[in-house]
Amino acid sequence: MYKKPAITSGTGAASSLKDIPGVPLAVTMDVPWRLFQKQVSWTPDHVHFVSDMDLPTLEAADRLCPHCDVVVGIGGGSCCDTAKYLAWKRGCRMILVPTIVSVDAPLTNMIAVRVDKKVQYIGDIFPEEIIIDYRLIQEAPKELNRAGACDIASIHTALFDWKLAHENTGEPYFPGVAREALACLEELDRNASEIHDVTSKGIDTIVDLFRREVEFCARIGASRPEEGAEHIVAYGMEHLTRRHFLHGDLVGLGIFTISRLQQNAPEWAENLIRRCGLRYTVPEATPAEIRNCLLGLRAFKEKARLFYSVVDTCEITEQFVEDTLAALYK
Ligand SMILES: [Zn+2]
Repeated sequence: MYKKPAITSGTGAASSLKDIPGVPLAVTMDVPWRLFQKQVSWTPDHVHFVSDMDLPTLEAADRLCPHCDVVVGIGGGSCCDTAKYLAWKRGCRMILVPTIVSVDAPLTNMIAVRVDKKVQYIGDIFPEEIIIDYRLIQEAPKELNRAGACDIASIHTALFDWKLAHENTGEPYFPGVAREALACLEELDRNASEIHDVTSKGIDTIVDLFRREVEFCARIGASRPEEGAEHIVAYGMEHLTRRHFLHGDLVGLGIFTISRLQQNAPEWAENLIRRCGLRYTVPEATPAEIRNCLLGLRAFKEKARLFYSVVDTCEITEQFVEDTLAALYK
C-alpha cells in the first residue's frame, strides 16, 4: 500500500535527528558520514557502514547489527536501500536523510539488491519520514544531483512508448496518469536552471517530482510513464560494457537517441536535458561502445525480454546510428 511521505526540508534540517526517541541505528558510507559529521552534531548508538548491495551482505547486516528502535539512512541510493532493508526486516521506524538526489530510492518502496550480480527488487516499505537538508546535498558533486533529473525527463520518451504499446499490443494505458506524468515533465522544464545549479528550489523540485512519479506508478502498478526505450539504451550499455555508469548519464543518452528514433521533438528533448545538466554524451563511454549498443539494441531487448517500445517498430539502421553519433558529438 502506498504511503505518503512526510518530507521535512531546510538548511540544517538534519539537526532534528538529535531529538528522536529510542535507540537509533545509522546506516551510511564513509563519504556521506564524514560530511554529515562535519555539519550535524548527533551521535547515534551504532553506525553501520554499507559495503555493497549483495543480498547475503544485507542479510548479514540484519543479523549482526544490534537492536534498534529507529533506522536512519544517511547517504545515496545504497544507504537508503540498506536502511529500507533493515527497517523492513525489523518492522521498525525509519528516517531517510539523502545526501544526494541522483536516484528515487529515498521515495520508493522497493529495495534494489544484487543476487548473482543481477539487480533484483525486493521488499515493500514506503519511506514515511524523509529529511532533505539542502546544505548536506549541496556539498555533493553537482553532476550527481543533476543526474536525478533523468528519471523525470525520461517521461518524454516513455509516454510515447507506452501509448505505442497500448495501440499495438493492447497494453493497459491510463490517460489521466499520462497527463499527470506530462505535468511532471513540464514542471521539470520550468525548473531546469534551478536543478542545474542545485539550488534549494531545484532540490525540492526533484524530490517532489520523484514523489509524484512514485505515487502514480504505484497506483497503476507499472513504471511505464517514466520507463521506455531510453532505459533500454541504459540497460544495453551496462550489459554490453559490463561497467557501472551514473544512471543519469545513460538515461540522458537514451533520451537523446530514442527521441530521434521516435521523431518525437528531439531538439526540445536535447535542450531540456542540456539545461538540466545531464551528461548525455556519457564521458565514461567510447563512441564505439555507444555505436555497438545502438546497433545491437533490438537483439539485446529481445534477448532480455524487455517491454514493447519504438525499438520494436523502428529499425535502428547504420545510417541512423551514424547521424545520431554525429549529432551527439557535434
Ligand atoms: Zn531510471
